[in-house]
Amino acid sequence: MKHVIIGTGPAGVIAAETLRKIDPDSQIVMIGDEPEIPYSRMAIPYYLHGRIEEEGMHLRKSAAHFKDLNIELVRARAENVDTERQTVTLDDDEVVSFDRLLLATGSRPYKMDTLEIGCENVHACWTLEDARNIAKLAKEGDDVLLVGAGFVACIIMSALVSRGVNVTAIVRSKQVVRSMMNPRASAMIKRWCEKEGVRILTGTTITEASKDDAGGIEVTFNSGDKMKPALVIVATGVQPNIDFLQGSGIKTDSGILVDEFLRTNIPNIFAAGDAAQGFDLSTDEQSVHIIQPTAVDHGRSAALNMAGRTCKFQGSLLMNVLDTMGLISGSFGNWQGVESGESAEIVDEKNYKYINLQFKDDQLIGALTLGHTEHIGVLRGLIQTKVHLGKWKKHLMEDPTRLMEAYLGATQSIGHNAAVF
Ligand SMILES: Cc1cc2nc3c(=O)[nH]c(=O)nc-3n(C[C@H](O)[C@H](O)[C@H](O)COP(=O)(O)OP(=O)(O)OC[C@H]3O[C@@H](n4cnc5c(N)ncnc54)[C@H](O)[C@@H]3O)c2cc1C
Repeated sequence: MKHVIIGTGPAGVIAAETLRKIDPDSQIVMIGDEPEIPYSRMAIPYYLHGRIEEEGMHLRKSAAHFKDLNIELVRARAENVDTERQTVTLDDDEVVSFDRLLLATGSRPYKMDTLEIGCENVHACWTLEDARNIAKLAKEGDDVLLVGAGFVACIIMSALVSRGVNVTAIVRSKQVVRSMMNPRASAMIKRWCEKEGVRILTGTTITEASKDDAGGIEVTFNSGDKMKPALVIVATGVQPNIDFLQGSGIKTDSGILVDEFLRTNIPNIFAAGDAAQGFDLSTDEQSVHIIQPTAVDHGRSAALNMAGRTCKFQGSLLMNVLDTMGLISGSFGNWQGVESGESAEIVDEKNYKYINLQFKDDQLIGALTLGHTEHIGVLRGLIQTKVHLGKWKKHLMEDPTRLMEAYLGATQSIGHNAAVF
């Protein structure tokens, strides 16, 4: 059996290792277009902070790890997939045949109309190469412009501030981290950033960017204000890498559509990670999660199915925990709630503490937290296991901090294992 995996991120690596464990005699080929030893993008903030070296970002200690497991690593870009011939064509024209194929191609940053990303002093913050460029260019005392104030922008702010740069973040909407926070929590995060010395401009876009004779960049905002930053970091969101599948017959929507076995509409082709649109536990729909835990879960389950073990994927929980210069915020499951649902919240604006819970009937379906780290495991457990809270819902509506009590009370009364997390 020949397994081919496109993508060498967490989803691809876990899949390859799982396959090797349960299918020792198979041939495994991993194709990746980045010139790096497989690494984790999640480690980029630590690298920018100077807390780890490049080696600390690698998913496994060395490239020899894959050789030792008899996993062949091919450095190339997959240009297209022929589902009938069962081949992948690479950018060097090599044609690789497969019996089973995994698409684990991750996602990539959106482009901008007004700025060319990747030129001298304008970079995304998505790859190791981006991180190297940012580390080289973000020097003490420099003005740095962050375009976007979402998850990635907020997570790297702390590293930038620690490098002694002056950060200005602009965001088109009225809210920071809009994709994971409601207006109240978002306003608290904005206030926290400003307290920490970051200038945040909401409702702001770049209308024009030009280069001066010395190669510096000048941007004009929609307000008419101008800025000459030493470095521009674009973090305006990402999209799954699925373009190369056009015309292949593999069905895509926002990502590659997969069933409960991580299988695409072509029976011997699977998808995992950021590129896949898989079953979402909190919405009961298929969605793209740009988070590493989902990538890892997908990779493992897809590999089991590729090796012929029928393994139904239970679905993944959308969960983001963000450290914005020391303020920890979390969004879990369906944090926006549902129309017929109820919600409860407790807020301490002064101390940057907030909990918002969303219920459907007597089940917790989503939550937001700010300044609380003690509830992360419990929230995950309650939402993921869809526990019926019974009388504990009323207690949580009155006091949302009683999460651990509610978890223990509700799970013990129906015989759940309280030690699931
Ligand atoms: C700064 C930063 C911080 C983050 N922090 C967190 C966090 O705290 N928590 C969290 O859960 N997630 C975080 N993430 C997101 C997380 O890194 C991703 O969800 C995760 O990397 C997805 O893994 P993946 O294997 O699906 O894709 P990727 O890691 O993107 O790997 C896919 C690989 O496939 C390659 N590829 C794409 N197309 C092709 C092709 N046609 N041919 C060959 N190769 C191809 C790509 O270049 C890439 O190397 C963060 C991301 C960034 C950038």
